[in-house]
Amino acid sequence: MPNNNALLILERFEQRGPVRQEGRGWKTRCPHPDHEDRDPSFFLYPGGGGKCFSQCAQYWPPRELASLLGISLPHWDGGLTLSELAEAKGIPENFFGSLGVANGYAGTGKQRRECVDIPYSNEKGEIVAVRKRLRLEGQGRYLWRRGDHPTLYGLPYLADIKRTGKVVLVEGETDCWTLWHHGIPSLGIPGASMWQSKYAVLLEGLDVYLWCEPDGGGDGLLKSVSADLPNLRLITAPEGAKDPSELYLQVGDGFKQTMENLLTAARPFKEFQVEAFTEEARQSLATAQDLLDSPELISKLSESIEVSGYAGDTRPAIMAYVAISSRLLRSPLNLAYISQSSAGKNAAVDAALPFVPETNYYLVRASSPRALIYNDEEFTNRIVILTEADSLPEDGPAASAMRSLMSDGEMSYEVTEKGEDGQHHTRKIVKKGPTGLITTSTKPLGDQASTRTFTVTIPDSVEQTRAIMHVHASRADQGLPELDFSAWLALQRWLELAGEKRVVVPFGHSLADLVTATSVRMRRDFNQLLIVIQTIAMLHQRLRNKDGQGRIIATIADYREARSLLDEVFTTTVSEGATPAIRETVEAVRYLSPTGNTVMQIQLMSELKLGKSVVHYRVGRALKGGWLVNQTTIKGAPAQLVLGEPLPDGNPLPHPDELVCVENPESDSNLRTVPEIDQGSNEGSNEDFNPIAPNSGVEPPGFNRGFERFEPIPVSTTHTTALVKISEGPLPWDPFLDEEKDNEPNVN
Ligand SMILES: [Zn+2]
Repeated sequence: MPNNNALLILERFEQRGPVRQEGRGWKTRCPHPDHEDRDPSFFLYPGGGGKCFSQCAQYWPPRELASLLGISLPHWDGGLTLSELAEAKGIPENFFGSLGVANGYAGTGKQRRECVDIPYSNEKGEIVAVRKRLRLEGQGRYLWRRGDHPTLYGLPYLADIKRTGKVVLVEGETDCWTLWHHGIPSLGIPGASMWQSKYAVLLEGLDVYLWCEPDGGGDGLLKSVSADLPNLRLITAPEGAKDPSELYLQVGDGFKQTMENLLTAARPFKEFQVEAFTEEARQSLATAQDLLDSPELISKLSESIEVSGYAGDTRPAIMAYVAISSRLLRSPLNLAYISQSSAGKNAAVDAALPFVPETNYYLVRASSPRALIYNDEEFTNRIVILTEADSLPEDGPAASAMRSLMSDGEMSYEVTEKGEDGQHHTRKIVKKGPTGLITTSTKPLGDQASTRTFTVTIPDSVEQTRAIMHVHASRADQGLPELDFSAWLALQRWLELAGEKRVVVPFGHSLADLVTATSVRMRRDFNQLLIVIQTIAMLHQRLRNKDGQGRIIATIADYREARSLLDEVFTTTVSEGATPAIRETVEAVRYLSPTGNTVMQIQLMSELKLGKSVVHYRVGRALKGGWLVNQTTIKGAPAQLVLGEPLPDGNPLPHPDELVCVENPESDSNLRTVPEIDQGSNEGSNEDFNPIAPNSGVEPPGFNRGFERFEPIPVSTTHTTALVKISEGPLPWDPFLDEEKDNEPNVN
């Protein structure tokens, strides 16, 4: 018997015109005033809701449908009983006995009302969670019993499901009931966001079919399930039926046949994936083609960065772009920006971000280091951006995560957690790389770190400060032009989906011979230089030749670009921190002290036309480098500066012309053997690449999946119904099993 509300609605429909029983519900004319529905296309569900399958293409829950019909339903918030639920889903009530589903209560006092208790059990049939269903429709339908840890629904039947060799994964219990009732093996995921990687182990050896609900969380569920079960097959929901339960209500007795047809027609997830990727790659290329086919890509980037409001020398911002692009290589760049707090090092990084998809990086401010540790992100082929890195507590897990990124290109750290036994346990977390790192700080990070990291200093010159002020002024004045970043975003997407990520640098050994090797650091930095060259070649890959294995061959043009970006970085590296700004400051002391007299900072401020803080910072760095010496012995007194060690000299990077003769075989018969310079082994490097962009919207497996995100329990729940173990009793799909013995399964 339909519930009272459904009866009232049905009665009203019968007054309006012909109503015909179909499936488990009724077919009639759409009640919407704007819809002249001559050919009845409205379906009234047994629970009282209804859906127009033509013009309106909309579902109305009972209360809204009633108001559309001009009747009002008696106010009712009395909870839900098993008979009402059974009726609405078209399943005989006695079917539920063997499942342990029973009438229960939720809430206390005036809040207390009837509900349906749905036990979730493990494989042994022990109840591990209880979900209370409070109503048929709308928000707040469900409550979890306090402290419960839900699992897949239907696990007591897992052994029997395994005998069938296949399982249909659905969202929620209702669809399981419908499928079980028709002898189709199935398990329920309690909600679209509740898939967990550990479930994959339970399903080993089974052909897994996922019913994808067309709206809502379906996409997210598909992403997380397919990450763990790549051989998944997808059931495409037939038009008008978002889930199996709804399909059953519409087709009634034809349900089992329809389902079997759907299973036969289900396609491997991989096919969809390939199609979607191919199509997306094609579209991305069309959008980004002008950029990808331009030899002036980096200049265009520089112009766009300027137009978007970045002041002064754009190279620090371009370096951030290169670093983020290097995420696709086997070992991405580590980049450290160092300057005073006000000099815009964060601005340099921020200026690059609009040019890349948000999924390419993970931005953490050191003021909230927990965001680096406690997150559900995946970090493969991404760059972690950590601003104000020197403010991280040095011995915390965030600092150790940062250090592992710098040294291993992969994030690992230990966290202490309270386990189910109430004890605290230390757990080592490893997030799969390759992952690069960009940090900003006011002082160099630890020694070990900086040898594996490219240091980029941001000029703190008067000109730079003035340029920044001018940008602020124009922003306040007429605003900055709205830039269209879509081609840039498409460029990165195309690289990810279809681009080649392996690059050989044929002139690598020549370069190794020609760079100045006076600094120990140069050894490691040389590798970073190669990564920059490779990244630039990768960005220009449509203009570059490929070798026999399809790898991009970098050219001198890529080196020229890298050199102009890195000029200062390398000069600074070789001269151990003597940036042009520091040099200028030391030179000013030399100028002000022709006879070796001491110089005060206040004199430098006026000589360099710089503010106190800038001069103080520069003098500090010069003192640390030993190029200036403070002669005062009085603590806290103004510095009395004299010259110290001579400044180191020279740009260690050879001019591109010096390399040309070795790049072009025709030009030099004494060509040295030109080996491939690649990072690590080339074997299978392309296979390693995961074409699925890390997506922050997807819940990745594993780490830190608590149960906090379940619907909160607003009222205290009481448990009045004894819940029986549900592994006993007849199994709901025995008939299906029998049939399977006679017939070959449709799908192997
Ligand atoms: Zn309609």
